[in-house]
Amino acid sequence: MTAAGVSNLGMIAGPDFLWAIDGSQGPAPAKAFIAASKQATGKDFGRLLLTHHHGDHIGGLQFFRHAEVWSHPYCRDEVLKTVPATPKMWTPTPNGPADISEPRKVVVPMLTFKDNLTVLVGDIEVRFLWAGTCHTWGDMMAYLPKQKILFAGDVGFFWVAPYANNSYISKWIDTCDQIAGWDVDIIVPGHGPIGGKKELADMADYFRVLGVETRKRYDKKLSPGVAAAEIRLGKFDNWIGPERLIMDVVRWYEEWDGTLTPDYNAAAVRGATVEYNQVKAGESKSAELIPLSRMEALGHGC
Ligand SMILES: [Zn+2]
Repeated sequence: MTAAGVSNLGMIAGPDFLWAIDGSQGPAPAKAFIAASKQATGKDFGRLLLTHHHGDHIGGLQFFRHAEVWSHPYCRDEVLKTVPATPKMWTPTPNGPADISEPRKVVVPMLTFKDNLTVLVGDIEVRFLWAGTCHTWGDMMAYLPKQKILFAGDVGFFWVAPYANNSYISKWIDTCDQIAGWDVDIIVPGHGPIGGKKELADMADYFRVLGVETRKRYDKKLSPGVAAAEIRLGKFDNWIGPERLIMDVVRWYEEWDGTLTPDYNAAAVRGATVEYNQVKAGESKSAELIPLSRMEALGHGC
C-alpha cells in the first residue's frame, strides 16, 4: 500500500496458529487482513509482534482478538501513554467498515523483550531483532533466515518519505548499512511496496542527501524551517509525504545540537512548519503551503 499513513502488515503461518507482524492503523485494514489470512490458511492469529508504538501500527490491534502482543519494552511504555487520550469510539470514515459500533480499545503488549529472540514457528525459524536506536528507541524486526525475508517495520520506508519524529537519524542510517550485509532477498517495509536491499539503501540515501543539505544550512545558522524550505532532494522530492522533510530537518538539528530525546518535539516541528510556509509564501503567491493540522496529525506517528 502506498498512501503515506498506511502501514504494511505481515503474516507467518505456523502449524496451530498465525503470527502477525503489526496491527495496522484501524478497523478496515485489520479486519480485511484477518479475513484474508483466515481464508488462505484456515487459521487464526495467536501471536503478534509489534514493531513499534506508532498509531498506524497499533490502531487495529483490538481486532486480533486472541493474539498475545509482544514488543520491545520502550514500545509498551509508549503504547500505555496513549491510553488516556484515545477516543472511546471509532470515528466513521468514508471508506471504512460499516461495523465499527464496538468501543475502541488500546491493546497494550503483554510480553516484552529487549534483545534478540529466536522463535520456531513450526519449522520456520523467526528471529526477532532489535534494530538499535533507529526509527524509534524500540524498533523490532522479524527476520526469516532460511526464507531470506526481513519484516523491517518502519526501519524501511520505500518510495515514501521516512518519518523521523521519534528517530535518531544517524543511527538509523547505521542500521540500514548493517542490514546491507545480511543474507536477505526480500524486505517488507513499514510503508511502501515490498522491496529489497536496494530500496533500503535508497531510503538511507534520502537521509544522507538530506543530511548534507541540512548541515550546510545548520553551519550557516539558518533556522530549521528556513533550511527545510530551501532544500531540494532531487529524485526524493517525488516520494510520498514530502512535507516530512520538515520534521526530518528538525531531528538532524537536534542531533547536532545534542538536544535529541526519544520524544517528538511538537513545538519545534510546528515552529519550523510556520517558517517553512512563510518562506514559500514569500517566493510565490501560488506556493503550496503545509497545513499545520497535517503536521500535527503526523504527531501520532507513522
Ligand atoms: Zn512509525
